[in-house]
Amino acid sequence: MIFSLIGPPASGKTTNSILLGERLKIPVIHIGDLLRQKLSSPSRSSENIKSIMKKGGLVSSSLIKRLIFSWIRKNDIENGFIFDGFPRRFKDVNLLHNEILPKIDICSLPFVGVFNLDISLREAVKRVSIRSRVKGERVDDKLDITKKRYDIYIKNIEKIKNFYSSSLRWFSIPGEREVSDIQKTLESLIGEQKKFRESQIILILGAAGSGKDTQAQMLSSFGYDIFSSGEAFRKEIAKKTKLGKLIKEKYINKGKLVPDIYHKDVIYKQIAEILDKGKKIVLTGVVRTLKQAKILDEYLAHRGDVVKNVILLDVPRKMLIERLSLRMVCPKCGFNYNLKYLPPKKPGICDRDGTKLVRREDETREAVNVRLKEQFYDVIKPILSYYKNTKRLHIVDGRFTPDKVFKLVRKALEI
Ligand SMILES: [Zn+2]
Repeated sequence: MIFSLIGPPASGKTTNSILLGERLKIPVIHIGDLLRQKLSSPSRSSENIKSIMKKGGLVSSSLIKRLIFSWIRKNDIENGFIFDGFPRRFKDVNLLHNEILPKIDICSLPFVGVFNLDISLREAVKRVSIRSRVKGERVDDKLDITKKRYDIYIKNIEKIKNFYSSSLRWFSIPGEREVSDIQKTLESLIGEQKKFRESQIILILGAAGSGKDTQAQMLSSFGYDIFSSGEAFRKEIAKKTKLGKLIKEKYINKGKLVPDIYHKDVIYKQIAEILDKGKKIVLTGVVRTLKQAKILDEYLAHRGDVVKNVILLDVPRKMLIERLSLRMVCPKCGFNYNLKYLPPKKPGICDRDGTKLVRREDETREAVNVRLKEQFYDVIKPILSYYKNTKRLHIVDGRFTPDKVFKLVRKALEI
């Protein structure tokens, strides 16, 4: 996991991040130290930066980015890392979410949040004067700097707080306590958030007829919202937006797949809305190509979200064909029924909205065979190796009844 510890001067962010790093066995990146190191080596650029800082200016984002990436290359971040005192200003937030998180090549590390150690100006001043007396420094100078830095912190914090609050990633922790108490609070909060973020998104893969919708439905009793691309496009069309109209006329009505360029504004936007409410989500039909798998990862990474668990419902082709030729679909809500495995409660009628079910025209054995080949067997291999190589793939035997398959799904997900 990745997270940030921030706070006003003398709030104890460095002490606490070092202790947490030892406890969690992940490295800490101290950007302030990296900057000072950089400045201590004489070069033209360091002279430039020094003069910018002397005038009270802020160091450029591109320099911070370079420092962070060179640190990442030198450290083992397989299990994550901690930012000490970053982000400091809103520009850093943009840098973190647009330039850093999507470019870190580990797609199973969620950004769990920003933990703010809250102390008053009075406390900051008290701590700094004790510290400088111990070190024999001039207290008055130090206090002036502390007050200035506290002001800067207050000025910047509101926007950072609002940004992270909107995705439930802002945590303010009372910092005027014993370090051991603060550690306890942080450790339990971070552990909780890590668990939540890692289980928040589940992706189900499988051919048509593999039981994806049924398994997703069953996960809803574990607090998961069901999300499918088909449903997302239907929602957009129902809203009668310009985009919805275009998608309907150009693609859906013609039976064509909606191209990737429209996914961001429809699919990812709706996924983000669900995640921002703090809900868990199970995705079906969202990834149909390797490219879509990568785009999804990159999109989620910029938010700090991850797909940590991918389920493949593995069903032999012969069985898929048998199941699909028994399939009925609701023309209104798009839900699939199966006359043998998942029949509607009233024969021929949708359980959800009472619409009369229809058999899809292309559901002859031969058409089914072609569709399975084109939409699944021809494209699934690279997707599976992508998730397997990143240690996220669970292959679940999907030949059994929905209940039995669901037991296997739960076992794979450890829920
Ligand atoms: Zn229906």
